[in-house]
Amino acid sequence: MQLMAEPFDLGIGMTSRRTRERLIGRLSEAGIHSQEVLQVMRHLPRHLFVDEALASRAYEDSALPIGHGQTISQPYTVALMTQALIARGRPDTVLEIGTGSGFQTAVLASLVRRVYSVERVRELLDRAQERLVALKMRNIRLRHGDGAQGWREYAPFQGIMVTAAPRGVPRMLAEQLAPGGVMVMPIGEESQQMLVRVVRGEDGFEQEILDSASFVPLLSGVS
Ligand code: SAH
Repeated sequence: MQLMAEPFDLGIGMTSRRTRERLIGRLSEAGIHSQEVLQVMRHLPRHLFVDEALASRAYEDSALPIGHGQTISQPYTVALMTQALIARGRPDTVLEIGTGSGFQTAVLASLVRRVYSVERVRELLDRAQERLVALKMRNIRLRHGDGAQGWREYAPFQGIMVTAAPRGVPRMLAEQLAPGGVMVMPIGEESQQMLVRVVRGEDGFEQEILDSASFVPLLSGVS
């Protein structure tokens, strides 16, 4: 008789519940206090967002290569950015720039009504789409393009998250943030980045530094 596996959880080896629970413990020790974020990270199968050869390392708290010189962000970073984005209440719609593996997209889609995500590398976008479809996550729209332009058609967004670092806050993204909206992104040169949260208030933008950061740069154009 064939036993039914729990959804996304084979319960064996490096992807076992115990391995995941260890990661959640680490995130919470490192300062991730949002139970909503921890709960989503506990259940999402990060091993499906990396190549099979790296699956055994998917529940370590580290960034891993996903091809094209890009990485899937470290779980701590994903959790921290998500926590910062939803701290004042869950945004209804979120624009994400830099789909990459699609993991952060899946985290966001588990918490908000709709996620719009833009990626400049076609091949990464196609792979991310396959994974998200396989997980039956339907509240996501993906687009191939230069994320510095945002996604005007669906603007304004209550939340914007950027997972590659521009030198400063891109003007088009600031324009597409709804009043009261929250934007979380790394900014700065590769050696000196910081993670910031920008809130659009009634008379302008307020910026707060959350942490130091080390992201791949936001590149222009598509490939
Ligand atoms: N959140 C992703 C992070 C991937 S790394 C994950 O955890 O998997 C950053 C991603 O941003 C890369 O996939 C890179 O191709 C993409 N990127 C860089 N510049 C971009 C731009 N201008 N527009 C859209 N995507 C961009």
